[in-house]
Order: sequence, then C-alpha cells, then structure tokens
Amino acid sequence: MARRLSHLGEPSPTIIEDVYARKIFNSRGEPTIEVDVIAAEGFGRASAPSGKSRGAHEAVPFPEGGVDAAVAKVEEVIAPEIIGLDAAQQSVIDDLLREVDGTENFSNIGGNTAYAVSLAVANAAASARALPLYQHLGGVACSELPYPLGNVLGGGKHAGGGAPDIQEFLVIPVGASSVSEALEAIFAVHRAVRGVIESRDPSFTGGRGDEGAWAPNASNEEALDVVYKACDQVSREMGFEVRMGLDVAASSLWNPKRQRYVYVRDGVERSTEEQLSYMLSLVEEYELAYLEDPFEEEDFESFAELTKSVKSCLVCGDDLFTTNVNRLRMGVKKGACNAIIIKINQVGTLSQAIEAVRMAKKHGLAPVVSHRSGETPDPSIAHVCVGLGCPIIKTGVVGGERVAKLNELLRIEDVLGDYARMAHLNL
Ligand code: PEP
Ligand code: MG
Repeated sequence: MARRLSHLGEPSPTIIEDVYARKIFNSRGEPTIEVDVIAAEGFGRASAPSGKSRGAHEAVPFPEGGVDAAVAKVEEVIAPEIIGLDAAQQSVIDDLLREVDGTENFSNIGGNTAYAVSLAVANAAASARALPLYQHLGGVACSELPYPLGNVLGGGKHAGGGAPDIQEFLVIPVGASSVSEALEAIFAVHRAVRGVIESRDPSFTGGRGDEGAWAPNASNEEALDVVYKACDQVSREMGFEVRMGLDVAASSLWNPKRQRYVYVRDGVERSTEEQLSYMLSLVEEYELAYLEDPFEEEDFESFAELTKSVKSCLVCGDDLFTTNVNRLRMGVKKGACNAIIIKINQVGTLSQAIEAVRMAKKHGLAPVVSHRSGETPDPSIAHVCVGLGCPIIKTGVVGGERVAKLNELLRIEDVLGDYARMAHLNL
C-alpha cells in the first residue's frame, strides 16, 4: 500500500510522483533500460549497464522478452507500487522491488530493471534534497576520493581472436595525490601503451576492445611487458608510483571437463596448481598492485591460498562474489580475497550493494566499485563510490561512457575543494 507522506508524516519533497521507463542503447549498441523518477521536488534518472563476462551467480539482467518486457514491467507493475512512497527511504523501495520480483535472482523483473529503478530513486531523492548523490548517500563528512583503476590493454571476451587471453591489463596510480593527477597518469599510460605496441608491431591498427583498452595482436607475456614498460615510463615522468593490475576473468578460461585453464592465444593449458604458481609469478615479476578473478568462480580455496601468499597486492573477487553477501560470507570464512568488486546490477539494488560494501569493510576487504563492459554515460557510480567511501573505482580509461564517470569525480573533487583527500589504500 503506497504512502503519500514522508516517514515523519509530513508532505515531503522526496515523495515519488511518477516513474517512466524507456529503451536506450549502451556503448556496444545493445538495448538497455533507462528509468526516470519524478519526486515532488526532484528528478532522478539512471540507466543500466550490461556485462559480457558475467558471473554464474549474478542476477538475471532482463526478464523474458528483454528490454521491452522490462520497460512494461516498470510501467505496469513497479510504478503503481512505488508512486507515493518516499524516495529518501531507499531500503523500503529496494525491498519492495525484491518483493514484487519474488525470486532470488530478479528473474521476474530483471536485475537491470531493478538497478535502473533503484538508482533513479536515489538520484531523485538527492535532487529533491538539493544534494549531490554522493552526499545524499554518505552525508556531509564524505570527502574521500577513490583511485581510478582502468584498463589500458585488453583481451578475453572483451576483444578479438589475436588479443591476449587475460581480459584486462589495468593501471592504478597509487602515488597520485589527487583525482586530477591520477587521471593524468592513467591517460598518459593509455597513450604510452599505444606507443610501445606500435614500436613492436608497426602494423597495429589502433583497434580497441569493448572498454576502450587497446586490443593488439599479442601474447599474454608481450601484453604484460608492454603495460609494465608504459607504467614505468609514466611513473618516472609523473614522479609518483603508477602500478599495474590484471583482471584475468579466469572463469572464461576454465574448462570444467578438462579441469584446466585454457590459454588459447598462448596455446597453453594450466592445472589449478599451475595457475596458482603462474599468478604468483606474475604478482612478483610485474609488481602487481591488483589481481582480479585469478581463478574460476567456485574455487574459493585457491583464492585464499593466493591471498595469504602475496604482499602489497589486492586479490579481488568479481565473478567469485557477484556483489552477493552470501558469497562474500563464504569468502570471508575461507580467507579468500582482500578486495571485492561492487557491480550493483550483479545483485540488482543499491541497498544490496550497500550491504556488500558494509560487510566487506567490516572484514577488511577493499570494495572496488566497477563499471560493466557495456556502459552508458550515466555517471552515478562515481557518486556511489564516493558516497559509500570505497577506495577504488574501476571504470576504464577512454571512451565517452568511461570518461563520464572520471569527469564526474573531477567535479566532485572540485566542489570538495580543500576538503578533498585521496582514500587510504592498503598497499
Ligand atoms: C569484468 O569482468 O570486470 C567486467 C567489467 O566485465 P563484464 O562487465 O563484461 O562482466
Ligand atoms: Mg572482472
């Protein structure tokens, strides 16, 4: 039953008056959903991103019938339920979305539908309160800014056949003292990587993968060397430490029948033990600051083994956790990982993602707020990252839909002025 007054029993500027949904297109040209929420004195909009290397335990992105069916669900089922509710009560709305869906994985209304409604509600509440979203979520004390983690070279499911098997070769400017300095460094590495690739392969066409990272015809080792060299060059030019990271997306390499990680580009197969030693050797040789999904998504034990064996490196679970507190709880019990990817549409709602961030922090895991490979220019995740006090944002380097989030961080930094400070990285 809809309530037309705020929780204080008064007419509220954040009361939801209308909800609209429409089909738009993401950075891959695929259809997705955008939702507008009109509050008594505010307006919020959000659109859902889409993953390509998705975890098995993620929410189902769209209902049967795809985006058109999702739009119809918002208008026919969700809007009548939430019109009249208070957008400032995020968890009430998000609980209702779960109730309306009635399944464990949003297979009825779609995780992306839930995402777009949930984020549009948060944006509407922030707008009605005349606050930026990060302050609506995190309060006035919110002043810590995240380090950008972005991919400069890519392969796997985000690129074509001749590219490396490892999905993402990442850069994180751990020594930067501001977001603007950090962004200069990641853009410089992106440019430098192109230069190093061209010096080795003059026929390089400048092709890029789904997230704007260069996609050369290169083996995994060649790609590792290229990015290491570019990071080193930019570290020296900028005068602070710029380190390297990887998202192996190892579930994409895992062949359950053969019980091996299959590196097609390199023509190599690795058992679980061999994968563990390979990962350890990469951490050491390339001084990795960050290593995401080094094992397939059910192998908590190997994640734990690696986490206890490395120093000064974040071992991060993406497909492993799928932003799901039940999976995170299993990880905490086993000691798997010291970082977790937060992709809101893996679970559906902002409130569920907030729960995952809280649990991660409580147990000493660094939450890394992340984009998806199919993105829209919606900058909301920059605010979510700052508002929830997450130390890293993984949102690519180039491409309008990636830069939209990075530029939003610059605006937040600008508005915070002297109060802005970089988050603490446990590295
Ligand atoms: C990832 O694996 O971290 C990623 C961003 O991929 P996708 O969005 O395709 O799932
Ligand atoms: Mg990943």
